[in-house]
Amino acid sequence: MYHFFFDNYSHYKETRIQKRRFDENIWQELLQDWSKSPYLQLTKIGETFEKRAIHEVTFGVGPIQIIAWSQMHGDEATATMALCDIFKFLNLNESSFAKIREILHQNLTIHFLPLLNADGATRWTRETALGIDMNRDAQQNYSPEAKLLSDWADRINPTFAFNLHDQNRLYSVGNSGHQTHIAFLATAGDEAGTWTESRLRAGKLANRLTRLTQEKIPNKVAKWTDEFNARAFGDTFQQRGYGLLLLESGGAGWDLEKQSLRQLNAAILLDAFYSIAKGSYEQENTETYEALATNERQIFDIKLLNAPLEPTGKIRADIGINLKETAKNRNEIHYSWTIEEIGNLNYMHGLNTQDASEFEFVQTINLGEEISELIFTKGGQTTFDLRTFTAKIK
Ligand SMILES: [Zn+2]
Repeated sequence: MYHFFFDNYSHYKETRIQKRRFDENIWQELLQDWSKSPYLQLTKIGETFEKRAIHEVTFGVGPIQIIAWSQMHGDEATATMALCDIFKFLNLNESSFAKIREILHQNLTIHFLPLLNADGATRWTRETALGIDMNRDAQQNYSPEAKLLSDWADRINPTFAFNLHDQNRLYSVGNSGHQTHIAFLATAGDEAGTWTESRLRAGKLANRLTRLTQEKIPNKVAKWTDEFNARAFGDTFQQRGYGLLLLESGGAGWDLEKQSLRQLNAAILLDAFYSIAKGSYEQENTETYEALATNERQIFDIKLLNAPLEPTGKIRADIGINLKETAKNRNEIHYSWTIEEIGNLNYMHGLNTQDASEFEFVQTINLGEEISELIFTKGGQTTFDLRTFTAKIK
């Protein structure tokens, strides 16, 4: 069903959300809609430290309990957008969609926390209002939001749990120059990485989702390292037997608002729910998933080879330039560039690589400097202008 969900995405895309850092007022509007849906149940289950409501959206009456939460890191909203799409899907009345809904409805009860760290989302920070990384707080539950997540999951005692995140957009698939678009992890529940029943459930599901996602984006799927980290919720919940699967949205070229990854998230999650409802994931092994390369950090946005560093052009080196994202005002994300590294960079790949051997020096660059303009010439004519890359951002 993966391809059906992917191909029919335009039928259920929630068009009121167009970018990752969306307005709180739009969120309120969506909550209103979900509260009126005959298929969804909206419940306020608690509050963040700054008293923002934390809502649960529940769907279905089936015996298999599933939990999914998004944006425990406030600036990681790709899956949140996809959940909005999924809620729209679950309300479609055309017969092909309604038939699927009925199968999900009868077999599953899915509990969603679509926006957990609402204080962090408002600030556009990873951490909570108190500066706590919630995903390193699974043991102590210092933050009220982590406590709420832990108690909520224990109350439901799910068979599957989906931990939905965004990862650094410059992670690569192993040591390749491919940017990781999507990463999976069937987390380990102990130091030895034992394939417990819980982990095996998640691993089989990950196997199916890896195979199908790779058909859409060949070479762009990776897995996270499965080193056990008791402070992380994924590992702690696996230990508790909740069948935990981590889904990470990485980078997607110039699609910095990650709308293509949002569509993949929607297809991945709907397909996962459907295959759990049908039991088809049980036929899988874990080979395809286990064969995935792990996330590494081997790419720059722009890599210039052998560029001049001073006016004579005699001293040259490679230059690595990356995009930098800064939260500005209300709901804005500002993009700029930084000089990440200068020297011999042949151990790294570039999403965009240019041979700068014949470039002439125009301006001084400084390591770590945030820049919006950078020009090189060749025969006196501009041959590299950073602004042409800035113009590609969407
Ligand atoms: Zn995260």
